[in-house]
Amino acid sequence: GEKQPTNINDLVDEYVRLAYHGARAKDKSFNCELIINLSEKVPATLVVQQDIGRVLLNLFANAFFAVQEQKNKFITNPEYQPTVWISTELLPSERIEIRVKDNGTGIPDAIRQKIFQPFFTTKPTGQGTGLGLSLSYDIVTKGHGGELMVESIEGVSTEFIIRLPVVLIEP
Ligand code: ADP
Ligand code: MG
Repeated sequence: GEKQPTNINDLVDEYVRLAYHGARAKDKSFNCELIINLSEKVPATLVVQQDIGRVLLNLFANAFFAVQEQKNKFITNPEYQPTVWISTELLPSERIEIRVKDNGTGIPDAIRQKIFQPFFTTKPTGQGTGLGLSLSYDIVTKGHGGELMVESIEGVSTEFIIRLPVVLIEP
């Protein structure tokens, strides 16, 4: 694909809908509170829309899976409210930050180092290829000169952070 001037907020909006519908198609009982904060200050930037779309789709799908799994673990706790927070922001360093946070299962310290490796998955056979994050990492870093980071507390929350440089003209 080619890089095109893109409104990241529109892309986030489009792919969160896709991911939500995908999760519901797989599991009719799926439901999750979405808290979305998209900053109007985010400028257009050059990205391969299909590629960044893939990254977003994977991060959202992972978040929805994690909250669903947490819900199944805490089936006896009616207070648990599966929630995914999504935000965009223009950083002072002229980079666009996209955050995807969930209050799902979290990532144990022991596997944190492995999640970006190709084929690493903790999902049951047939439910995950383990390619999502390794592909996402390459798309964000090599493909767009950005960063992809994760912060997680096992049993509490996981947050993925994408930072993309604002690029207006193809070098
Ligand atoms: P897949 O989704 O096919 O398993 P990914 O590369 O997308 O492959 O993710 C790799 C692994 O990272 C997952 O199997 C899971 O163990 C962990 N992971 C990714 N996102 C989350 C998340 N939001 N919460 C908890 N674990 C996660
Ligand atoms: Mg995945």
